[in-house]
Amino acid sequence: MTTATAHHFIGGKRIDRPGTENVLSNINPATGEVIGQVPLDSITTADAAVEAARAAFASWAATPIGERCQIMFRYKALLEAHFDELAAMIVSEHGKTMAEARGDVRRGIDCVEFACAAPTLMMGRSLPQIAVSSSFCRTEDEGGVGIDSSADRVPLGVCVGITPFNFPIMVPLWMWPMAVACGNTFVLKPSEKVPQCAIREVELAHEAGLPDGVLNVVTGGPAVVDHLITHDDVKAVSFVGSTKVAAHIHSTASAAGKRAQCMGGAKNYMLVMPDANQDAVVEGVIGSAFGNTGQRCLAGSVAIAVGDAAEWLVPRLVEAANALKIAAGDQPGVGMGPLIDEASRERVLRYIGIGEEEGAILALDGRNVDLPRTGCFVGPTIFDNVRPGMQIVEEEIFGPVLSIVREETLDAAIATMNRSRYGNMGVIFTSSGYAARRFRSHAQAGMIGINVGVPAPMAVFPFSGWKDSFIGTLHANGEDAVRFYTEFQITVSRWL
Ligand code: NAD
Repeated sequence: MTTATAHHFIGGKRIDRPGTENVLSNINPATGEVIGQVPLDSITTADAAVEAARAAFASWAATPIGERCQIMFRYKALLEAHFDELAAMIVSEHGKTMAEARGDVRRGIDCVEFACAAPTLMMGRSLPQIAVSSSFCRTEDEGGVGIDSSADRVPLGVCVGITPFNFPIMVPLWMWPMAVACGNTFVLKPSEKVPQCAIREVELAHEAGLPDGVLNVVTGGPAVVDHLITHDDVKAVSFVGSTKVAAHIHSTASAAGKRAQCMGGAKNYMLVMPDANQDAVVEGVIGSAFGNTGQRCLAGSVAIAVGDAAEWLVPRLVEAANALKIAAGDQPGVGMGPLIDEASRERVLRYIGIGEEEGAILALDGRNVDLPRTGCFVGPTIFDNVRPGMQIVEEEIFGPVLSIVREETLDAAIATMNRSRYGNMGVIFTSSGYAARRFRSHAQAGMIGINVGVPAPMAVFPFSGWKDSFIGTLHANGEDAVRFYTEFQITVSRWL
């Protein structure tokens, strides 16, 4: 592949990088090949992106919502037509397996379909005859002049989205389609690790008819983010990424008077009851722990074996994880691809070392499996006898490392899970309605799976992380998104 040269997308056009900016080389994580470069300090370009969005706002907000949504319908059709191209781009830029990449595109398209419903979702409320004014024009038959009130949802202006590397197509689509369908204009700052996916996604929206300036991409690193989230012309900030950065974005953007929604990191627990369907558990836990090489905010990274479940759970998980073919994402039969970059590989290897030092038992050592010679690969790793308080169970590793904790009872397992500072997802595998219901009522997590390893909500529901997995009030997707990207304007009227 040749080195990509487009670095931003502003005012309807691909823009090349000015020669003076710092750059990061983008690599194909499966091969180590350099496939592009991304500028890191593009502050003046960020200003140009915000200015393009600001200039486009008035006319876009005045465009009838039906017309705005027709563009979304055409965009959805274009995404379907370019499905294979986008999935292949994810495989080469991010390293996902082709099946995972297709899932990324499919779940992104769900968000575009949801945005097509903006006319219904954006409807306001009205209440006629909330009072009667008798001071003017009182008529005998009406008993006075009626006063009506209504609440209209209106767009905010320029919104900014800052996205992580792990779903290069889908996570940006959590944000901008609903934002622009509601009449806002948008500046997207994608992860500097996967910029080309975002640029192509936005380019296709323009092929679908989106007017120039409504949606812009500026690539860059933290300096660009900090500039955007405090920019005078920006009204709202959507962020998805790690909790540390989420906290920084939320406090900085809020202090600058922006509304902010910040999705953060996670450490997700899966409880396995002795009465669970064993095949469903193995399929669900393996998919959750090692899918996307563990680089998902809904990755199940701790399994709690309740009662005697560990007796069959540990050997069956080790056997299934061992059977995964580790290879580049475009290889036939691949079960798990590489990590995003060398720094991530080193982090995961460091955590495996920490787990050993903490006294957990390495039931499967991902350092010792047969791995491709190039690329950022670590094999699936399973620790047994992990105890609460160990670093490997408290911290987000964001790689293919599964910790198994053993607890005697359901309540003890729920209590162990609820110790976590994170609250994105909690899963239970069981055939007992009682256990499932008790888990659901007591689990301190915003997304619950019952015999489902990755309970990712469809776009019609909000992506509902709790605790340190979310900072803000309104989540991404679902009705929350409409509320986040609009504000009420209340009118009280009387006709004399
Ligand atoms: P990250 O926090 O490193 O980066 C996310 C974005 O923030 C990028 O665009 C990056 O350029 C920017 N950024 C990074 N450091 C910054 C700083 N100091 N100041 C300002 N901006 C900064 O996250 P990542 O490694 O790209 O993604 C993985 C993380 O995202 C994991 O923690 C994962 O759990 C989380 N995630 C959460 C959700 C969710 O919905 N809760 C979804 C996907 C990923």
